[in-house]
Amino acid sequence: MKDSKLTLSVHSGSHGDPQYKGAVTPLYPSSAYDYEGQAILYPRYYNTPNLKAAAVKVAALEHGEAGLMFSSGMSAIVTGLITFLKEGDHVIFQSDLYGGTYYSVITELPRLGISYTIVDASDSQNFAKAIKPETKVIYIETPSNPTLKITDIKAVADIAKAKGIITMIDNTFASPVNQNPINLGIDIVAHSGTKYIGGHSDLCCGFLVTTHALMEKILSKAINWGGSPDANTAWLVERSLKTIVLRVRQQNENALAIANFLKTDSRIGNVFYPGLEDHPNYATAKTQMPGGFGGMLSFEVKNDALAFTNKLKLIKRALSLGGVESTICSPLKTSHSKMTAAERAAIGVSDNLLRFSVGIEEAEDLIDDIKQALG
Ligand SMILES: *Cc1c(COP(=O)(O)O)cnc(C)c1O
Repeated sequence: MKDSKLTLSVHSGSHGDPQYKGAVTPLYPSSAYDYEGQAILYPRYYNTPNLKAAAVKVAALEHGEAGLMFSSGMSAIVTGLITFLKEGDHVIFQSDLYGGTYYSVITELPRLGISYTIVDASDSQNFAKAIKPETKVIYIETPSNPTLKITDIKAVADIAKAKGIITMIDNTFASPVNQNPINLGIDIVAHSGTKYIGGHSDLCCGFLVTTHALMEKILSKAINWGGSPDANTAWLVERSLKTIVLRVRQQNENALAIANFLKTDSRIGNVFYPGLEDHPNYATAKTQMPGGFGGMLSFEVKNDALAFTNKLKLIKRALSLGGVESTICSPLKTSHSKMTAAERAAIGVSDNLLRFSVGIEEAEDLIDDIKQALG
């Protein structure tokens, strides 16, 4: 299949400037529009020009019919989930969820009378086994945070389809450049746009992409619950998306080079990257991530992780990910700090594990920085 992502990233959703015929979509900050002779435009109806331009571009890159932009990734995820769940329903999650998603699930769903089961996604049959008559949604996230486990997307989508269950995936780590779950049968794709979609560590937003029919339901809830972004952020995101393919391709290339280097260094313990041939799910990753294996990897340093990150010069210590600049964080101190040591151990998060979001710098410079910090 022809890969037109470079073209879609530049042109889809973007429209020129009708007044001055400028090349780019103008910023329309209005929250008040004339309602005669056109649909009612309003930011919280998610239909103002910049919100729509950004959402159309993400939907095109995900090969989906419709997109919606939210004020954060969590706003997108929670709105998507709760649209299809009510009291008495059941939902299945994979383990190794993004921390924010995990804590939302365990604190909010029981309060609403929605039950859930968390399954080990390394065997997709675990999803089939967890299905109950009242199961309405199956939710996955691959590659997972922080140990880059791979869930077989098509296998899970097939299991759910056979039972009429809606599937949702957090596609943040892969980005729309590397993995398009809708092609594999997934119903709803969620993104934290704060990461690769924004790409410059300077904004916060989220996206959902799905069919027109499901989006109609999501939109009606999203209007009730709020969570729409502002025009400025949408305008910035539309601009950022024009380079997402270039950025992510470079990040894929850098991450693979760095993972290969880390494998050979005796001062490093385990290295987790789905692009390494000895990753347990390499074959699945290769099939379902045709664009590349992504810019996220994690590894264990054998000596003190804090001392190592203190010595890094180019690579910044920071929580977020997906920016053009390389950042590194300790799950122990950040995303997984609320878990007990036993819970962390169960999902392979050791105390000296570091999660590395590889930027677009020269791979050799990043490797040199790691080498000097290990020394
Ligand atoms: C950051 C992140 C989120 C949450 O997104 P926010 O924009 O912080 O609300 C969800 N999933 C993954 C995988 C993330 O990295």
